[in-house]
Amino acid sequence: MFPSPPPLRAIPSVEKLLQALDPLDVPRPTATAVVRLELTALRVQAREAAPTPPFEEILQRVRTALDQLRARRLRPVINATGIPLHTNLGRAPLAPAAVAALVAVAANYNNLEYDLATGERGSRAAYLEHNLALATGAEAATVVNNCAAALVLILRHFTRGPKKEVIISRGELVQIGGGFRVPEIMEASGARLREVGTTNQTALEDYATAISQETALLLTVHRSNFYQGGFTDSPPIAALATLARKRRIPLAEDLGSGALADTGRLLPPATTLGHERTPMEAIRDGVDVVCFSGDKLLGGPQAGIIAGRARRIAALKREPFFRALRCDKLALTALEATLDLYLSGRQSEIPTLAMLQTNTDSLHARAEEILRALDGLPLVARIGEAVSRVGGGTMPRAELASVSVDIQPTNGMAVDELAARLRRASIPVVGYLSDHRCRLDLRTVFPAQDALIIQALRVIFPQL
Ligand SMILES: *Cc1c(COP(=O)(O)O)cnc(C)c1O
Repeated sequence: MFPSPPPLRAIPSVEKLLQALDPLDVPRPTATAVVRLELTALRVQAREAAPTPPFEEILQRVRTALDQLRARRLRPVINATGIPLHTNLGRAPLAPAAVAALVAVAANYNNLEYDLATGERGSRAAYLEHNLALATGAEAATVVNNCAAALVLILRHFTRGPKKEVIISRGELVQIGGGFRVPEIMEASGARLREVGTTNQTALEDYATAISQETALLLTVHRSNFYQGGFTDSPPIAALATLARKRRIPLAEDLGSGALADTGRLLPPATTLGHERTPMEAIRDGVDVVCFSGDKLLGGPQAGIIAGRARRIAALKREPFFRALRCDKLALTALEATLDLYLSGRQSEIPTLAMLQTNTDSLHARAEEILRALDGLPLVARIGEAVSRVGGGTMPRAELASVSVDIQPTNGMAVDELAARLRRASIPVVGYLSDHRCRLDLRTVFPAQDALIIQALRVIFPQL
């Protein structure tokens, strides 16, 4: 018996595969690396005497691997989850005014640190800081990369001296989103945790008795992504502020979302528990500094805003660490434009706020339009009653009545396959599955995207 010819010979060249993939929609080195990886796997198999698959099959494997890689490239998607601040979908989409400002600044030189009035070096973000202070009712404000960075900066600043202890209620040692755990952040920032109270009950007295020569800071963290009910109590922040002032210890509040608008008035009356604590309230309650996100209920770019007493903000900005956490010109521009909208009473142009305010009548009318356009496709489409949540770890109890388009294929396609195909559409559509239906909640779909959803469904379901 002679051995069969070595299977290695049948493995195609990188060049031949690249040619078959032409035209490429990723850079050639990106595709080449994927091809090489697949060929290496084949060579390993061949050495183990597995037969080399036919060329077409190898090509298909490469295509699949490239598809998977390409799907990870950052691109716009249609959010049909009904969750306006979906962390996995990039939280707040920017207002058109913010996008316009962003584009103009991005494509040109700008006065980031140049004072056009004097022709000399200028201070970064001065206009924005002025307006942030105005909007929050604080003496001063500044901004860093995100709220997590703001909290780290605050903790590092107040614990840089010999006093390291930060007093916090056990009810506030929470985890916010993926991997952001307050106790871990605190320790990583050089603070020593001094936990007071219990999970459900913390009294002012607990803070008062915990204060010692070692105390650097009192910290309160807004319970943003969950809520406590039943036998719970914690002192009002104003009382905590009075205690802090009396004992000459600074008080910081991590607010998380930090809506600048009164969500209680913004949301429809049927919404349960619509009010989200605002930075203005924190300042009014007397905290020394408050920090909150730029891309949660504020509806701007990723950023961490810090507002509070002028001397505290100035000291935070002098921290060497501040330089490492500062925002780039793009985030500053987008935040500036978003703040301008608030201050000029043009909040309705901020997509996140507009989505929260959209009433179900208008959503219903759009759903009917979509249903009409789907007529004749091999599917059953119905208008569903949906419940939107705010997302992004904010307002966990708020439930917004919403409207969805619920789809069941009638051509034998499984609903999860439909959901997968919608995600692979030229502009991916992300809905959710429930009750054996693929549901598209229209609250978070921009009206102009309705046509794109219809088009995606027409591609997925060939006309009968
Ligand atoms: C979301 C959140 C953060 C983190 O904010 P990022 O801007 O995402 O860094 C911190 N603290 C609280 C209470 C939050 O809700």
